[in-house]
Amino acid sequence: MLIDTHAHLDFPEFAQDLDAVLERAKSAGVHEIVTIGISLASSEKAVELANMHPEIYATVGIHPHDALPLNEQQLRTLETLAQAKRVVALGEVGLDYYRDRRPRAIQRQCLRQQLEVACKTGLPVVFHVREAHADFLNIIADYATILNGGVLHCFSGDWGVARRCLDMGFYLSIPGTVTFPKAEIQQEVVRQAPWDRLLLETDAPYLAPVPYRGKVNEPAFVRYTAAKVAELRGCSLEEVAQQTTSNAHKVFRIDNPAH
Ligand SMILES: [Zn+2]
Ligand SMILES: [Zn+2]
Repeated sequence: MLIDTHAHLDFPEFAQDLDAVLERAKSAGVHEIVTIGISLASSEKAVELANMHPEIYATVGIHPHDALPLNEQQLRTLETLAQAKRVVALGEVGLDYYRDRRPRAIQRQCLRQQLEVACKTGLPVVFHVREAHADFLNIIADYATILNGGVLHCFSGDWGVARRCLDMGFYLSIPGTVTFPKAEIQQEVVRQAPWDRLLLETDAPYLAPVPYRGKVNEPAFVRYTAAKVAELRGCSLEEVAQQTTSNAHKVFRIDNPAH
């Protein structure tokens, strides 16, 4: 049994055939999916999806691409969403200096504001960090001991950055790009990371693994990522599934009856 810890099921790519997507996921052994909010509107949809489908859990948060200085009312809305049933984390939040869609100072401010909400609600955090690991590590150092855990989604740093994130107790989530031939840095991280800190994700509809590279990604394809991780670590697919699912349940407290 696999869990896709990061998908965007509220995106238009899935609007027409979500039931078929969920069915294909189940057939591929993917029994649980965490759908990720990227704005207040998308977070509301994520919570709705989780309420409609027992295999879906939700996160709520504002992506660095949509970062803005949050006013009192927006913060209250986020806090209320964060306390909804079946919400397992705050996110995705972070810094993206690769696309740079919002001024960096505003990205940092919006991240800090949401980290305050995470501390207040006790939720773990799903981080999106791209070409901004130094600033991320600086900001997070102020919160790491208060936060209730976190996940570096689509982890793209090298082993040095991975080590520092692991030292702060965070998990590393591995996307389909690990199947690409040139993903040597990511593959090295998968080989070195401790078993109990690895998660698998699709980031669907983006980043489809080989052999679907370039196509619309979907949760069923997390199986190809699992197979690659098994190859890199020299173990069975079952072992990867068992370990990464148990890690996801732990960080997202999915067995918690409150969800
Ligand atoms: Zn992301
Ligand atoms: Zn995402």
